[in-house]
Amino acid sequence: MAIDMRQSRPLILCVLIGLVSLPARADFHVFACEPEWATLTRALMPDAHVTTATSYLQDPHYIEARPSLIAAIGRADIAVCTGASLEAGWLPMLLQRAGNRKVQPGRPGLFFAADHAQLHAPHDHVDRSMGDVHPEGNPHVHLSPDQLPKITEALAQRLGELRPEHSADIFARYITWRVNWNSHREQWRESAKTLEGHSVVVQHTGFIYLLNWLGVGSTVDLEPKPGLPPSASHLSQLLTDPALDKASAILIASHQSRKPAQWLAERTGKPVVVLPGTVTDDPETDTLAELISMIVNRLETSVAEVSDGGF
Ligand SMILES: [Zn+2]
Repeated sequence: MAIDMRQSRPLILCVLIGLVSLPARADFHVFACEPEWATLTRALMPDAHVTTATSYLQDPHYIEARPSLIAAIGRADIAVCTGASLEAGWLPMLLQRAGNRKVQPGRPGLFFAADHAQLHAPHDHVDRSMGDVHPEGNPHVHLSPDQLPKITEALAQRLGELRPEHSADIFARYITWRVNWNSHREQWRESAKTLEGHSVVVQHTGFIYLLNWLGVGSTVDLEPKPGLPPSASHLSQLLTDPALDKASAILIASHQSRKPAQWLAERTGKPVVVLPGTVTDDPETDTLAELISMIVNRLETSVAEVSDGGF
C-alpha cells in the first residue's frame, strides 16, 4: 500500500519534535565528588546520569585521579562537591586534566555544598603544625540536620538554572524532599532527648555536625591532630583523659582502620561502633535521612547498653 506523504507528514513531525525534546534531562551528566551529593542530586533529578568519585569505603580527602574520573568530569554538566578544601588534594587536578569549561571554578557547573552552609570551626590562620585543618571550617557538613535543607535548596536552584525547562519539576522534588527531611528531623529531635549529655570517642571530625546537633559530646579524638593517623603515644595519653571515662562508645567510620579503636576498646571495655560516614548502596542507608536515622539508632543502642551495664 502506497503511503500518502501529505497525510503522514504531521505524524512524522510529531515524532521528530518528540525526539528533539526528549534528551534534555536524560543527557544531563552529573559528577558527584562524594556519595551524599550523588543521592541528593538523584532526589532532585532522577533521570540524570550520575558518576560518583568516592564511596563510603574511601576517605574523601585522598583519592587517586583515575582516567575514568577524568573522563566523567570531562562530560559533566555539573560537578557537585563538598568544597571547603575537602577535595583540595584531587579535584583541581581532575578539573585541569579534563579541561571541561562548564565545570571550571566560577562557572555555574561547579557547585560546592560548603558555599551554602555555615561551617563549624573556621580558622583565620592555618599551618602544617595544626594538622589537616581547613581554613574555611569543618567541611563534613553532609550529616547536619539543619544545614542540609539550605544546601539542597541551593542545589535545586542551580540545577534549575542549568536546565530551566525542568526547573518546576526540580523545585517540586525539592519540596517533597524537604517535607520528608523535616519529618525525619522531628524523630531525630525526639532521640536527641535521650542522647543529650552522653559522649563518644571519635576519629576525625566526620560525624561532628550530627553529634553536636544531638547534644552528644566528642572531645576525645583518636587522631592527635585532624587528618593525622592515631599514634601509639597519643592513644596512651588518651587513657589518662578524664573525658574518656564518660564516653559510651568508640565511633569510627567504615573507611577507617579498626586497629586504633580496638586497641582502646581492649583497654577500656568500651564498644567499637563502626558506621558508614556517608550513604551506601544498602537500601537502609542509601539516602542521607535513612543514614542519619541509622546512626541515631545505633547511638541510642550504645547509650542504652552502657546504662544497662550499671553506669
Ligand atoms: Zn576532614
